[in-house]
Amino acid sequence: MEQRLLEAHCYMQDATSFVGQLETFDTTARWRRALGIAALLVGGAIVSVPVPGWHFLGVPGFLVGAVVMARKRLAQHYRLHCAEGPCPACSQRTQLQLPAAAKLPVTLACPSCGEFLKLSDLR
Ligand SMILES: [Zn+2]
Repeated sequence: MEQRLLEAHCYMQDATSFVGQLETFDTTARWRRALGIAALLVGGAIVSVPVPGWHFLGVPGFLVGAVVMARKRLAQHYRLHCAEGPCPACSQRTQLQLPAAAKLPVTLACPSCGEFLKLSDLR
């Protein structure tokens, strides 16, 4: 886990600096994550085969889900877990939890004042 400097923008306010907790995935880690989720979903398809009625939806659903999720994980080079810093609107120090598939720049609401903050990379 590494830290990355981010910049938080908000309408009509000066930008502030945030520190984000970033997990990067090299090629091996991306393949391992993709194959892990694909194996889990293919396992769900195999378990769904003997279930009457459900197998018409479960088997193709799990198999399509395995391909879609594996492709998403192969394309994900990093995951931003959280970001912490002062809100540019209300100046409260805040910690933002980011969705698992969030890519920079990402827009989130400040938990203190509700203002939308746009987090972007400083690089
Ligand atoms: Zn705020």
